[in-house]
Amino acid sequence: MEGTLTARDKVGVQDFVLLDAYTSESAFLENLRKRFRENLIYTYIGTLLVSVNPYQELGIYTASQMELYQGVNFFELPPHVYAIADNAYRMMCSELNNHFILISGESGAGKTEASKKILQYFAVTCPMTESLQIARDRLLLSIPILEAFGNAKTPRNDNSSRFGKYMDIQFDFQGIPVGGHIISYLIEKSRVVYQNHGERNFHIFYQLLAGGEVERLASLGLEQDPQLYKYLSQGHCARESPINDRNDWKTVSNAFSVIDFTEADLENLFGIIASVLHLGNICFKEDKQGCASVPDTHEIKWIAKLLGVCPAVLLEALTHRKIEAKTEEVICPLTVELSVYARDAMAKAVYGRTFTWLVNKINSSLVNKDFTQKTVIGLLDIYGFEVFDKNGFEQFCINYCNEKLQQLLIERTLKAEQAEYESEGIEWEPVQYFNNKIICDLVEERHRGIMSILDEECIRPGPATDLSFLERLEEKVGKHAHFQTRKLAGPKGWKRIGWLEFRLLHYAGEVTYSTKGFLEKNNDLLYRHLKEVLCGSKNSILRECFLVAELENRRRPPTVGTQFKNSLSSLLELLISKEPSYIRCIKPNERKEPSKFDDFLISHQIKYLGLMEHLRVRRAGFAYRRKYEHFLQRYKSLCPDTWPHWHGPPGEGVERLIKYIGYQPQDYKLGKTKIFIRFPRTLFATEDAFEF
Ligand code: ATP
Ligand code: MG
Repeated sequence: MEGTLTARDKVGVQDFVLLDAYTSESAFLENLRKRFRENLIYTYIGTLLVSVNPYQELGIYTASQMELYQGVNFFELPPHVYAIADNAYRMMCSELNNHFILISGESGAGKTEASKKILQYFAVTCPMTESLQIARDRLLLSIPILEAFGNAKTPRNDNSSRFGKYMDIQFDFQGIPVGGHIISYLIEKSRVVYQNHGERNFHIFYQLLAGGEVERLASLGLEQDPQLYKYLSQGHCARESPINDRNDWKTVSNAFSVIDFTEADLENLFGIIASVLHLGNICFKEDKQGCASVPDTHEIKWIAKLLGVCPAVLLEALTHRKIEAKTEEVICPLTVELSVYARDAMAKAVYGRTFTWLVNKINSSLVNKDFTQKTVIGLLDIYGFEVFDKNGFEQFCINYCNEKLQQLLIERTLKAEQAEYESEGIEWEPVQYFNNKIICDLVEERHRGIMSILDEECIRPGPATDLSFLERLEEKVGKHAHFQTRKLAGPKGWKRIGWLEFRLLHYAGEVTYSTKGFLEKNNDLLYRHLKEVLCGSKNSILRECFLVAELENRRRPPTVGTQFKNSLSSLLELLISKEPSYIRCIKPNERKEPSKFDDFLISHQIKYLGLMEHLRVRRAGFAYRRKYEHFLQRYKSLCPDTWPHWHGPPGEGVERLIKYIGYQPQDYKLGKTKIFIRFPRTLFATEDAFEF
């Protein structure tokens, strides 16, 4: 009837595959908007879940919601992150294979929240025995600890993950969660010593000051006010209203007590955290010879006490450098600038390695040796594509990581799906998509890619600088279609690229990177002198982090870029052997506001998350496919010709069966070895018939 809104007009469709104008981006956007307006933040594209951050509590993560989604057919209930979790879980249990759920989207889109909801879902709904409750609690409580040490406030997200996280949840053969394992990727160490306006350092520093007991703070030589610490106050937002550091401290303290941390561990750990704050407050002054000196050694004394090192040796290591001449060591004084560099390098190294120690410690508490036969569901919550006003080495690594994950998605969905239709001889109109392998190669190719060029610049004898690195890039990859610099862009394009910058045309859009700091961050050098001090520390955590063997090993450690590249390639190897599920998170506006749907921002995300391509492949394709044998085995009782036994070829049996139960020609196609069913509803109807 005219003038009356149908439910579909009001709330849109819950699977984009059902959109009539499925090739139109504006129809896609409109559907998302309708649903968002009704607080329906989830929509499917087939089995992929699109989620829009509501920036408000919607009451959709209750125990009764969890119960609702348990063991129900995927498409029978409205889309939900629980449905994705439940589906992966049930497939894992029935097929005894490994799964992963890849959660992607830009900063603030809701990745970490989604991963937490999934973990909670498993914790509540999976079968459990009394003796395994502790394993479950540890899994859950590892999250606040990692967030305290690895997340920070940025302008885009008050709780932004500044490290990548892959977490395997391990299940025994009965589907009980028995343990886990976490791998962390590239924590943003530069934040320890510097934050832009509107940003904070990692949460743990503020939590300790706001919530730490008076005696604890006194024993660490700390005051409560974060403004007193240089490393905490540069972003001018040390106190931030939506963040309740004092409460968060309580959560983290409780988590520490459940996950095997002893009082001695905590004393050492917070000794390190406090030392970092003291380090930041060391002031250097230039003496008459132009060398650095420390007029007030108050901080040095505290650091020496907390780290168990000799204050005089520490002072010397911060203001001098050991140079190895032929037969002897020469000690040279540093300038103020170099001392500041050494101090910051020490703070970053100490924090970065302590974070790795923390992840290892959590992992050892999540190990469950009693269970050998395990299947896993992996959760990947990794930094999304980032474009800031100024983009540096960190953004370069993060965006490269996103290129690699896009490759995985292409390989596993767009490419694999189309290849299967081809091999099964199903008629098929190929869907075009941009394959970003060309950009991955530009970054990672051996000897020719940007990472290799950067590494070569880092080891080249003679004065390599950020400028010489840029010149090398121009020389070696200057002709690449996805690479530009001011010099190469020509009269039209040069204006928006600075002299020290290069631009990459990523699959998700253009990003201009400043080469400033690339060499230094890739090298990540800690003066040997300081390393020696740290290796001699009496703080047991630092002793595990800085091994004497490292001093004896004269070989250059791999650069940060190379380590990251290698860890990503192992991650992809790990994922490629598992069954995937995807969650694509969308950020609705830049202001963290509920109910605000910014068309421009969302369109951009739809584009670069490749949602339209995904929809086209899904829509043109088939939601379900089953081997003839399996299909027949399951449904043969529905047809007198195939029940109780069918002795002919399975394909023919399936043909008889589906004709008998009334499948329409447009609903399915028969391939060489499998039946392909276009929409889930066809299969549900068959399942229902089967139940009666
Ligand atoms: P980053 O890449 O910076 O780590 P992210 O994608 O992990 O970003 P989250 O930290 O998950 O983003 O989400 C940012 C904030 O958005 C959360 O702190 C929360 O306030 C809100 N939010 C996200 N998802 C939801 C949700 N499903 N329901 C309610 N609020 C949400
Ligand atoms: Mg996050």
